[in-house]
Amino acid sequence: MNSNKIAVITGASRGIGADTAKLFARKGYAVCINDVSNDVAAESVKDEILQDGGHCITVKADVSVASEVKRLFETVDRELGCLSVLVNNAAILKTQCRLDEISEERFDRVLKANVMSCFLCCKEAVKRMSAKYNGTGGTIVNVSSGAARSGSPNEYIDYAASKGAVDTLTRGLSLEVAAEGIRGNGVRPGFIYTDMHASGGEPNRVDRLKEKIPMQRGGQPGEVAEAIYWLASDNSSYATGTFIDLTGGL
Ligand code: NAP
Repeated sequence: MNSNKIAVITGASRGIGADTAKLFARKGYAVCINDVSNDVAAESVKDEILQDGGHCITVKADVSVASEVKRLFETVDRELGCLSVLVNNAAILKTQCRLDEISEERFDRVLKANVMSCFLCCKEAVKRMSAKYNGTGGTIVNVSSGAARSGSPNEYIDYAASKGAVDTLTRGLSLEVAAEGIRGNGVRPGFIYTDMHASGGEPNRVDRLKEKIPMQRGGQPGEVAEAIYWLASDNSSYATGTFIDLTGGL
């Protein structure tokens, strides 16, 4: 495939990543659907895209591990072609608790899954997109969280801190490569209906908290996907180093 619209979306088997992959495919992108373990979910996203006439591949890879990230991008080079968009969406969170109950092992795991993954994938993308490496440019969108601003007290400070790091990485990298044809931006979702809240031990968290949201409702993954697409597309051609908050006003 030689389309110049090629997108890697990490963590695209479920939730926000899955809706983002489907949206990019509808917009004519050849999409790489990455996930770490849920083959059934990834294949179902793939089937839906193929049935709609889109083009995509699935690549299972743990994006917190350098060798797996390398294999992921090499597969895309070989099977899709020249990368134009990277969406760093994969992330995890663990059971709600206070900071003094978080183990060092968990803290390490969350930072690796949420921050190291972003760093490793950005590195591979810059090497392919940057004019410094004879690339033709591209865009990177990092999925952060409103937690980067709230700090998530009594829930998951480790997760919130990881998203603060993602914001700083996004800002620094976007300025570093701004003159090399790469734009980098972030989105900060708030309370979105996905499986992620079950990982925190409270599947119905969004409904419990929705009255505290000025718009009085949780968000849908597709509403986040639209913002990611806008930041990746030429429609946002003068935006770099910036963030869109998708938090219903919080
Ligand atoms: P989700 O439904 O839990 O899905 C997470 C996705 O990430 C899955 O596809 C999962 O793959 C993948 N993943 C996790 N660790 C990975 C790894 N090491 N390597 C590769 N893939 C990995 O999550 P979501 O709610 O859609 O969240 C997507 C993004 O939005 C995350 O960055 C999250 O922090 C952010 N966000 C979400 C909310 C919310 O309310 N949902 C709010 C703010 C920010 P498997 O299916 O294989 O497990």
